[in-house]
Amino acid sequence: MQKKDKYILFFSEVSKRDLNLVGGKNASLGDMYSNLSAGGIRVPDGFAVTAKAYFDFINEGKIKNKISKILRGLDTGDVKELQKSGKEVRALIRNTEFSDRLSQEIQSAYEKLSKKYKSTALSVAVRSSATAEDLPTASFAGQLESYLNITGKESLLASVRECFASLFTDRAISYRQDKRFSLWKVAISVGVQKMVRSDKAGAGVMFTIEPESGFRDLVVIDAGWGLGENVVKGNVSPDEYYVYKNKIDKYKPIIKKQIGSKERTMVYKNSKDKPTKNLITSKTNRDKFVLNNNEILQLARWGSKIELHFKTPMDIEWAKDGLDNKLYIVQARPETVHAPQKNLVIENYSLLNKSKVILRGVSVGNKIASGKVRIIKSTKQIGLFKEGEVLVSRSTDPAWEPIMKKAAAIITDTGGRTCHAAIVSRELGVPCVVGAKEATTLLKNGQEVTVDCAAGIEASVYDRVLKIQKKKINLKNVKLPRNVDIMMNVGNPDVAFRSAFLPNMGVGLARQEFVISNYIKIHPLALINYPNLPSVLKRKIKEASAGYPDKKSFFVEKLAEGVGQIAGAFYPNEVIVRFSDFKSNEYRALIGGDLYEPEESNPMIGWRGASRYYDPKFKPAFLLELKAIKRVINEFGLDNVSVMIPFCRTVKEAKAVLKIMKQAGLKRSKKFKVYLMCELPVNIIEAESFLKLVDGYSIGSNDLTQLTLGVDRDSDLVSHVYDEFNPAVLTSIKNVISDARRMGKKIGFCGQAPSDFPAFAKFLVKNKISSISLTPDSILNTLRHLK
Ligand code: PEP
Ligand code: MG
Repeated sequence: MQKKDKYILFFSEVSKRDLNLVGGKNASLGDMYSNLSAGGIRVPDGFAVTAKAYFDFINEGKIKNKISKILRGLDTGDVKELQKSGKEVRALIRNTEFSDRLSQEIQSAYEKLSKKYKSTALSVAVRSSATAEDLPTASFAGQLESYLNITGKESLLASVRECFASLFTDRAISYRQDKRFSLWKVAISVGVQKMVRSDKAGAGVMFTIEPESGFRDLVVIDAGWGLGENVVKGNVSPDEYYVYKNKIDKYKPIIKKQIGSKERTMVYKNSKDKPTKNLITSKTNRDKFVLNNNEILQLARWGSKIELHFKTPMDIEWAKDGLDNKLYIVQARPETVHAPQKNLVIENYSLLNKSKVILRGVSVGNKIASGKVRIIKSTKQIGLFKEGEVLVSRSTDPAWEPIMKKAAAIITDTGGRTCHAAIVSRELGVPCVVGAKEATTLLKNGQEVTVDCAAGIEASVYDRVLKIQKKKINLKNVKLPRNVDIMMNVGNPDVAFRSAFLPNMGVGLARQEFVISNYIKIHPLALINYPNLPSVLKRKIKEASAGYPDKKSFFVEKLAEGVGQIAGAFYPNEVIVRFSDFKSNEYRALIGGDLYEPEESNPMIGWRGASRYYDPKFKPAFLLELKAIKRVINEFGLDNVSVMIPFCRTVKEAKAVLKIMKQAGLKRSKKFKVYLMCELPVNIIEAESFLKLVDGYSIGSNDLTQLTLGVDRDSDLVSHVYDEFNPAVLTSIKNVISDARRMGKKIGFCGQAPSDFPAFAKFLVKNKISSISLTPDSILNTLRHLK
């Protein structure tokens, strides 16, 4: 019999060219099984019930015309009508018998598969695989049904029929009509695959691209305990791991490990009507990472190979078997949001006014929208939803796709960035906030809100309808000037991947304070002295550093990850990381800070910058900062990192700090650059003595203006005097540029002035600055003025 006439194809007989026979999901599974197993990628075996089997089932069962009639002229916008028609079609399918041939062939394939795994009734996963599914223009994410832990022939046959019926779920009907797939052009194939016992371990999703920004050099892995469905459907907040792809062969570039709360664990139930159930995850498991570093790296290496094989970024499901402790790939399909995107046009949304932030959560998409809240608690209520409302629910169930596409924005209590629902929102272009925790309790029906997903990885929900500005920019048309390097000020790792798409020559200032306040939140000295802390504080720190038994490592690893994300996002361009420059009042605000920080009258000119690093009271914390930088270079392989010392008051101080760095193994060299901030008048006056010790200066106009004019930059009372254009400031800058040039040292600029005032940027270029570092939001505007 020819391949195209078969009802059953084992994975070993399937390749990616068989899309029409077995659908996207089975074609990639079979292709991976056949071609990638030899390279060490484990894919559990299985078989496909083909699209031919489905078509014969429809034709021989004489239900084709009946289905066509029910769906002809259906308005999918009419939710009630859609629900009624969907139900009728599904009932027709459920009441149609399988032919003897189909029923027998499925059973004997199942027997063969069971035998291979030495079982009499193997537990299998039964998944729908539509033939138009997973084409690069349509994700079909969550449209069709899957059934886990199916055992025995009877249950298997029933599940296959349910998969056939799921081609006509309300959401699938509506999605197909919107994508203009004609009714009988889309068929369904069913994949039957040996279950991985992830109920006894964990499972999740892996993207070989950063799904938010479309950044290509990253593998993003989401992980939960138990079967993967909770992660896929967004019913739990998963662990999230980022691996930097370019350095994966020689290094261990896990540049983000964020522990998730993993609220539920899906396990086997083994009752006939319900093969799985959800348990509340124990506190111990919630506080533990699902995967260890070796497993994360192994998955990421597999992900890269799979991407290379299919020649496009992929969206993959993985599972870890708790019986043999091995990892498996159980699904893969092309990533659909960014892959078709050809030219880099950015739609820039910003808020023109602000109000109270009611909620925060994980941002999906990069738009802002306003509307009235509509809380939807169950599928039964979706008929209540009106176009343009803000959909608020516990989780973003893709079953609600017919209303999701009509929503101005979506807010959910739970879910991570790679859940199916988030993918659907992204594809629909609807801004979506997942994991907002208390959305369904804090928000009220009819309340007007503005949902801001344009400010990085964290989304904010504001009270009231706010004014929104939209701008379209094609980045291809933006050129960088030749006479100056345009760099960026990026300290918050969460915006790094998105910002890296802007035209730039690297990062001129990555303030470590951003990483510490976003990712660590605890005073380094409190982490160092953790065993001796009062018990209340200890408990608080334990909570904030869950997953890390060694608290010093927590600081080093989190700091390294934050810096690593920025360095990875801009690689191979230079990323200048500045050591911590919190003032004592800011350090006090960190958890445990009051134990270690003095109450200073003038913290702005007090214990900050270089003066801390060699001080025996702070030096142990500085040594952790150095360790983190070493980790970025040696473990992650991100050798594009340079460092910068802020607020250095004397040459003696500079020497003391450099000595500590050298002792810690961070010596200035041809490959490893060390810069000083030039932000005190002494740095201008004694430029030659300072510059001798380092590779260059970066001018900080914020402190330089404050200290030249004697104006506290935080004071409202004298803020009218604060002026970077003051001749004394401009003269200092002019002089120091020429001093540095004369000595052959680099002279850059990273203060705020050129971001706020294009005229200031012009002044710097005219005076031959070598680089200007701008804030991401101002870079395009400033570039226009520098042409
Ligand atoms: C500056 O002083 O100009 C500067 C860039 O540093 P910060 O604003 O962090 O003090
Ligand atoms: Mg400064």
